[in-house]
Amino acid sequence: MGYLKSLKIMGRAPDGTCPECAVKYLATNPHDKNSLFYQYRFYDQHGRWPTWGDAMAHCTPEVQKVWTEELEKLGEAVSKIKMEDIR
Ligand SMILES: [Zn+2]
Repeated sequence: MGYLKSLKIMGRAPDGTCPECAVKYLATNPHDKNSLFYQYRFYDQHGRWPTWGDAMAHCTPEVQKVWTEELEKLGEAVSKIKMEDIR
């Protein structure tokens, strides 16, 4: 943590939403990569912006496959997940 250093612009995610992306959704799905809450939280932890691969890193292989196929139909780039990038 701490890539944003003293820039603290966010509090906690609202109750009932995902604590990482502040969006309400089925927990088996990816985080909302387009959520600014998620993007800044991820940047603060990793020093880079998240990809869809990062957003779905916690999902099962089946969920990742379906989301990757659908995102690619929409023209969204889904980077391959590299664990060293996530940690
Ligand atoms: Zn989330």
